[in-house]
Amino acid sequence: MPIDFEFTEEQEMFRETSREFGKNEIEPLVEEYEKKEEFPKHLFPILGEMGFLGVVFPEEYGGVGLDKVTECVFAEEMGKICAGIAMCINAHVDLACLPIWKNGTEEQRQKYLVPAIQGEIIGSLALTEPNAGSDARGIRAQAEKKGDKYILNGSKTWITNGCIADFHVVAAYTDKSNKGGGISLFIVDSDAPGFQVARKIEKLGHHSADTGELVFENCEVPVENLLGGTEGAFQAVMDTLIAARITHSVKSVGLATAAFEYALQYSKERDAFGRPISKFQAISFKLADMATKIETARLLAYKAAWLYDQGKRCVKEASMAKMYAAEIVQWVTSEAVQILGGYGYAVEFPVERYYRDAKLSSITEGTSEIQHIIIGRELGI
Ligand SMILES: Cc1cc2nc3c(=O)[nH]c(=O)nc-3n(C[C@H](O)[C@H](O)[C@H](O)COP(=O)(O)OP(=O)(O)OC[C@H]3O[C@@H](n4cnc5c(N)ncnc54)[C@H](O)[C@@H]3O)c2cc1C
Repeated sequence: MPIDFEFTEEQEMFRETSREFGKNEIEPLVEEYEKKEEFPKHLFPILGEMGFLGVVFPEEYGGVGLDKVTECVFAEEMGKICAGIAMCINAHVDLACLPIWKNGTEEQRQKYLVPAIQGEIIGSLALTEPNAGSDARGIRAQAEKKGDKYILNGSKTWITNGCIADFHVVAAYTDKSNKGGGISLFIVDSDAPGFQVARKIEKLGHHSADTGELVFENCEVPVENLLGGTEGAFQAVMDTLIAARITHSVKSVGLATAAFEYALQYSKERDAFGRPISKFQAISFKLADMATKIETARLLAYKAAWLYDQGKRCVKEASMAKMYAAEIVQWVTSEAVQILGGYGYAVEFPVERYYRDAKLSSITEGTSEIQHIIIGRELGI
């Protein structure tokens, strides 16, 4: 098969629709919601109606039935507009809906996936705990079966959509003697007895993203909410994270592109010593490096997405894409601030937000150190 770097006509159209949607529906909200440190929840039904929450899901569940590459096109466009808002959308789609589609029972798909694709309900994935992030198998949450319920105890932190979600896909041990393998997944409704949002977390960036700390105190979960109806389905989260890392990498590419485009334009308009600063080699070389690194990250990300669509193993490629995009987005946004000089440091210019938002890329969905470990493992080390 020949190598083809072109997006299909359908994907290009989807990019155009995503871009228009972002410009008209999301961009006007960014400043207000970044300031309020809130996610604009009313967007979910609109996103659902537009089909943006169901790009990869089958039509029988209300999805659009397209591929990961197309989903990435949307995620890249959202990353350009607002990383915080993009993160909540991605967490809903990749972290909460995907494991239900891939591993849920038919009843769970009908009850949760169908309305989630419509944006009628919001989901989260609750894996991380105060004492266990990278070491996911080190979680302490436990669930014990009692009659027709599981009694869930534990706490989760850093949960995207944590305060606003209607349901949470929660990881907890059902068999403590089996490290990792004894972890099961539960779909917990936000009105379940014993469930509580402990607090909303304030962050360096991604201010318009909702991030919460959750507590489960003798939380009652009906047995039918055990994901897939089988205990020990922890691998579902690991599989979900591969898809999520690909989306994460294009989101970083989008964010880096926004910073680059702003800096490029600014450099052409800002004069110093009698000429535009873009004419100084120190600035034009920065811009050339920025463009090259963004393009490289983009190629890695879409290659991983393409492999995913082919059903090929892409653990290594997803981690490479995520890690590299995380690295370059931090560098690119830092250089963008530098090109704007003092104005890059001012809150009234978006580059300051891009710079703060970029830091998260090397932390969530597996830190860059963890991506190195995964890539090393895939290389047989
Ligand atoms: C804004 C935000 C949103 C998030 N959203 C979610 C969410 O929706 N759901 C969810 O479950 N979690 C979420 N997380 C949690 C995120 O996945 C974790 O923060 C991440 O996995 C790192 O875990 P940790 O913070 O506990 O750091 P730790 O695991 O304690 O790591 C601390 C440092 O040690 C390094 N380290 C750890 N182990 C190794 C090792 N073996 N070798 C080398 N270095 C190592 C790490 O790379 C890091 O630099 C979110 C986090 C943030 C900040």
